[in-house]
Amino acid sequence: MTMTVAQLQGSGAAISDESLEGLRAAVRGDVLTADDPGYAAVRPAYNAMHPGHPALVVRASGTADVVAAVGFAREHGLLLAVRGGGHSVAGLSSVDGGLLLDLALMNGVDVDPDARTVRVQGGALVGDLDHETQAFGLVAPSGVVSDTGVAGLTLGGGEGWVRRKHGLAIDNLLSAQVVCADGQVRTASADTNPDLFWALRGGGGNFGVVTSFTFRCHPVGPTVAFAGVFHPVSDAENVYRSFRDWAATVPDEISALIGCTTLPASEHTPPEIHDVPMIVTGAVYAGDPEEGMKVIQPLREIGTPLVDISGPLPFVGVQAAFDEFFRRGSLRSYWKSTFVQDLTDPVLDLLVAKALDRPSDRTFVVTFLMGGAINAVGPGDTAYSERSANWMLSMDGNWTDPGDDDKVISWVRDAWAELHEHGTGTLYLNFTGVADESATVGVASAFGANLDRLAAIKATYDPENLFRLNNNIVPAS
Ligand SMILES: Cc1cc2nc3c(=O)[nH]c(=O)nc-3n(C[C@H](O)[C@H](O)[C@H](O)COP(=O)(O)OP(=O)(O)OC[C@H]3O[C@@H](n4cnc5c(N)ncnc54)[C@H](O)[C@@H]3O)c2cc1C
Repeated sequence: MTMTVAQLQGSGAAISDESLEGLRAAVRGDVLTADDPGYAAVRPAYNAMHPGHPALVVRASGTADVVAAVGFAREHGLLLAVRGGGHSVAGLSSVDGGLLLDLALMNGVDVDPDARTVRVQGGALVGDLDHETQAFGLVAPSGVVSDTGVAGLTLGGGEGWVRRKHGLAIDNLLSAQVVCADGQVRTASADTNPDLFWALRGGGGNFGVVTSFTFRCHPVGPTVAFAGVFHPVSDAENVYRSFRDWAATVPDEISALIGCTTLPASEHTPPEIHDVPMIVTGAVYAGDPEEGMKVIQPLREIGTPLVDISGPLPFVGVQAAFDEFFRRGSLRSYWKSTFVQDLTDPVLDLLVAKALDRPSDRTFVVTFLMGGAINAVGPGDTAYSERSANWMLSMDGNWTDPGDDDKVISWVRDAWAELHEHGTGTLYLNFTGVADESATVGVASAFGANLDRLAAIKATYDPENLFRLNNNIVPAS
């Protein structure tokens, strides 16, 4: 018996039982075909638009399994998807007909409280990371939804609730262990393979499978000052303008956002905001909670809110606040982002107009206050190049009915095009959806002047482009 697995060159490789048994013998985790009972239980992808139906799944239990899977893919020329947390907006969490290397079993997190560092395996989720670091009153900067994978998030940049005080996830990365296309396990750090280390900090999954990350941590929590204020959309213009004025005055301890969406009824949210379109302002203060509550107070005094859930809250609670609304496999998602220097009046007017004209309830028109520590790093210091903008605007199209695909996707594209005209020209690859475009969409804009160096490093570490199911960087020839 043989099975067929999709290959890089578009054809299919016939994999014999003997080859498969060889792989099973080399892997301590699971090797699963669609006929195996464990196949259906593999942690699903987030984006319901791109569930993926791999012919073969390797659930690695450690670095040795990753080496075996990468070697197997290389030997047979297989189309290989690498899944960390499975939260890819672009639908890069899986593959149809190819080999899926799933790292979900590799979710260990080990804090060194004296050194204030944490080592995180490649399949850990943001919630796994926060759970362990918060036990020591520490935070390693990551994202704002605890179900997101640390790996994909970090490799694309990593923007969370402490970004303006402590930078992006990549700005706190000290080293990574990487299984490269040639099967070699390499350390990437400022001293060892510095070119690889530079490329990993924003260059995505192009350079190998990261089996572990070591991050610097910072004392934040366990309680933080949190702002969560919900307004009727009828007051959108006033709320957006007042938020912008407040944001111009705040210290770097504050990371904040403003957005518009409609949330379904839930026991975890107040009834005042069930099923009504609303504007939300949110902020976290990375410092003394009492001082932080004073800094967020003006945000609470804007207009007449529907409800205000602000207060000193456990950091892990803040990190899980959005989880329920982004359940794996429940939403179809197509997002597009752009960075702007300032929220000028024309930009603000556009944002309000888009907020009031969303194509689906769950579409989130969201604006993130950036700057601070993020912009203290130079544009060429890491592969991630956007180090000057003060704001990121994201049109997060989310919906459930496949019949709405065209409507929502074209709305996101149009809204983004209007906003992007006011932008710095860059975008956030981690917030880039893929429908009928290629997953290279946005790569040139995101990397700008860093793209040539990335292509050269790609040619060194992955000349055959084995790792191509990502925001792909074509190896320099
Ligand atoms: C609901 C939601 C909330 C989000 N919130 C934030 C946020 O607050 N901040 C933010 O910055 N981003 C956020 N994102 C975007 C997120 O960072 C990206 O979607 C990211 O790619 C997810 O990483 P993952 O490991 O979960 O995804 P996966 O689908 O597993 O992987 C995404 C990409 O990374 C590659 N990859 C994954 N793991 C590895 C690895 N170990 N080694 C090499 N390559 C790997 C994959 O091959 C793929 O190309 C959010 C996304 C969603 C859907």
